[in-house]
Amino acid sequence: MPDFEEYCAEIRKLWDSRWLTNMGVEHRTLQRELEAFLNCPHVTLYTNGHLALENIISAMRFPPGGEAITTPFTFASTTHAIARSGLTPVFCDVRVDDYTIDVDKIESLITKKTVAIVPVHVYGNMCDVERIDEIAQAHNLKVIYDAAHAFAVKYKGKSSANFGDASMFSFHATKVFNTIEGGAVCFKDDSLVEELDAMKNFGICSPERVEYVGGNAKMNEFQAAMGICNLRRLDGEISKRKSAVERYRNRLGGVGGLKLNEPQKDVESNYAYFPVVFDGFGATRDDAFNKLDEHGITARKYFYPLTNSFKCYASLSTSGVEKTPIAARLADRVLTLPLYADLTLEDVDRICDVILSLKR
Ligand SMILES: *Cc1c(COP(=O)(O)O)cnc(C)c1O
Repeated sequence: MPDFEEYCAEIRKLWDSRWLTNMGVEHRTLQRELEAFLNCPHVTLYTNGHLALENIISAMRFPPGGEAITTPFTFASTTHAIARSGLTPVFCDVRVDDYTIDVDKIESLITKKTVAIVPVHVYGNMCDVERIDEIAQAHNLKVIYDAAHAFAVKYKGKSSANFGDASMFSFHATKVFNTIEGGAVCFKDDSLVEELDAMKNFGICSPERVEYVGGNAKMNEFQAAMGICNLRRLDGEISKRKSAVERYRNRLGGVGGLKLNEPQKDVESNYAYFPVVFDGFGATRDDAFNKLDEHGITARKYFYPLTNSFKCYASLSTSGVEKTPIAARLADRVLTLPLYADLTLEDVDRICDVILSLKR
């Protein structure tokens, strides 16, 4: 969280203007700052990341009955956004090393109905954006990234906001950069600007002109003010996270049966999460989760369960965890450990001590 006085100074303006939502000064300022920070021509802000994803998928105007290739190793939001936009999610397995979509398995899932690929950058790891581009071009598909985990990540020096047709970021309280709740869509295509701006405000283009079947997904001024404050301290946030990650790696690296998330080549990470895969450690992931919980330490089984095991998708022929065996193995074994800027190295040690005490 930002310094309390700093946030108060930012929202003080709202008491003067009485302008609380509907694209006021704070909203416009944050949008401009993010366009510069993410080095992306267009950023549209939303009240949360999920609605951002739903809005960009629907702005693509896919024919009903289309299929979108995605992964089940993600938060419920990704799959729901696809389904609620009238598309059928088709689940591709993930890579064992970085947990992102296995690009070698995408083409075998393409059918006449495929309209899009919705890959997920996981834990701050980037998907194979180059290969995904090639596949999308060869088959005339749109690419919409769930980049909720990849804010401020760079690949070959280029911001994560610049790949595919669009990327969605989440600014939820739990993310590296937060606006309390919030989200954004980043894209290059000028022709999408008006529709996306209107869609989050009931399809209203101007006071007497409504052109789209829109809903309400606007980011309010208090959220934007939080973002403006948090953006100022993002570098510090990320470097503190990096120190915690380095301590975790020191303590847990090389321990038999624990697989850590290895840094990717050419990727500048945001240190969003610290996942550990328990495989041959003796104690299981669930043992570790329970033992940490007994010590008052909250780790997360993230992502578990896989979205292709959800009851609401059971009737889909594309559903079923057996179709994505690597993701299934991972979901049963992965635990993300506490990670945030204020986490002390002493706390990291305490967490590691609990885990290492379980080694058999
Ligand atoms: C957080 C998250 C979302 C949803 O974002 P909200 O801002 O909470 O709506 C979607 N996908 C992934 C992978 C996420 O981690």
